[in-house]
Amino acid sequence: MSTHNLKSALKNPIFDLVASAAIQTGLETYVIGGFVRDHLLERDRPKDIDIVAVGSGIELAKQIAKSIGPDTKVQVFKNFGTAMIKTHDIELEFVGARKESYDRSSRKPAVENGTLEDDQNRRDFTINAMAISLNQHDYGALVDPFNGFEDLKKKILKTPLEPNITYSDDPLRMMRAIRFATQLNFNIEKASLQAITHNAERIKIISKERIVDELHKILLSSKPSIGFLLLEETGLLSYIMPELIALKGVEEVEGQTHKDNFYHTLEVVDNISQRTDDLWLRWAALLHDIGKAPTKRFSKKVGWTFHGHEFVGSKMVYKLFKRLRMPLNERMKFVQKMVMMSSRPIVIAQDIVTDSAVRRLIFDAGDYIEDLMTLCEADITTKNPKRFRKYHNNFQLVRKKMIEVEERDQIRNFQPPVSGEEIMKTFNLKPSREIGIIKETIKEAILEGTIPNEYEAAKELMLQKGKELGLKKVK
Ligand code: ATP
Repeated sequence: MSTHNLKSALKNPIFDLVASAAIQTGLETYVIGGFVRDHLLERDRPKDIDIVAVGSGIELAKQIAKSIGPDTKVQVFKNFGTAMIKTHDIELEFVGARKESYDRSSRKPAVENGTLEDDQNRRDFTINAMAISLNQHDYGALVDPFNGFEDLKKKILKTPLEPNITYSDDPLRMMRAIRFATQLNFNIEKASLQAITHNAERIKIISKERIVDELHKILLSSKPSIGFLLLEETGLLSYIMPELIALKGVEEVEGQTHKDNFYHTLEVVDNISQRTDDLWLRWAALLHDIGKAPTKRFSKKVGWTFHGHEFVGSKMVYKLFKRLRMPLNERMKFVQKMVMMSSRPIVIAQDIVTDSAVRRLIFDAGDYIEDLMTLCEADITTKNPKRFRKYHNNFQLVRKKMIEVEERDQIRNFQPPVSGEEIMKTFNLKPSREIGIIKETIKEAILEGTIPNEYEAAKELMLQKGKELGLKKVK
């Protein structure tokens, strides 16, 4: 990392156009924020570039659009005084340097024109407040009034101004601090952590959508537990997901304890993050045990139990998604299904792995069987190396059996070998309960292994069951 030669950050020809427009309009112009930070961190970033002009960012954007070509569109957001140009695969965002003052009831500040320094003051972290000059006289110079560059080297997140004011002004910054700490593996400065803890309750004024956006980014990091531990430590998690807080703690009755399901959950999330980038599978890992708090019981006979926690948990998924205004669509259903089935492969693996249990598992999980196995393998968090090996070996057995059974019986995407139509024709039936009964009997027999998944055997069973039901064969 070198502060001297930041021209290397400006290789993209788009910066030449911005610099020319700066000369033409006479506006002082800088590239600022995430682009500068990620360049110094040598980090790949989405191609959005923030440009700040001392004066009208919109005017600068219009000038640049002209020089790119007549078809270039400038999207102007008049209310915000900002503009955006999309060119090739880059999004250029323009803003006029501004000074902000906040009111306690909202995170929307009163805005007035300001200097570059004012604009840097309103940024959330020192590492996000760095700017690179695009002006002729000092092109490429780093403007870093808060020593963001030092903080980058020290891997520390710090606010430019007094942290209590920064977080109280815009409580979303608390989530952003924790998200950056997770993504970049940085520490949050102590005064900042204290200020977040102090202001945690103010997260209530932030929209659920923005909170979830940050949660997604935390979950998609390589080690999401960093973020969730910080959310817990600062008290934010109690406001966002009290269901996870309820998993915290170990109870002891008559010398018997259970594991701390909060920390266990975070281990599972970290484990699964090494295996998959699928956001919803990671959500499933985060929520797979949430039903354990309300179902926890102790009995002298069997000790601690969590009977039915998968079912209760899957119902809680719906409530949680609804409260956080997350989609209540097939993604939510996927997470529900994973939570609902999260113990199934484990139960099978603990016992003798029978063909019929494996067939039922494949049938119930359908296309999600791989995801379910990934979740269950991530769920193995025992610190006992012997058990760790044993559990993994058991899952290997289940996987092997799954391949065998699937090759033979083709249960995945199960199609009944005898159709409802054929049943109706055979017994001259209108749509009725009997058809359902016969179909269910055939399906059950296949899953149990009493008949193979083949037409002839299924037809024979259909005739036999029809007879039992008092139906007459007409064809
Ligand atoms: P990423 O692209 O990874 O989210 P970023 O830093 O580019 O990182 P953006 O949300 O695009 O994040 O914000 C761009 C810049 O705007 C930030 O670098 C920061 O300087 C400033 N910023 C964004 N949100 C806030 C906020 N809530 N309070 C203060 N400054 C902010």
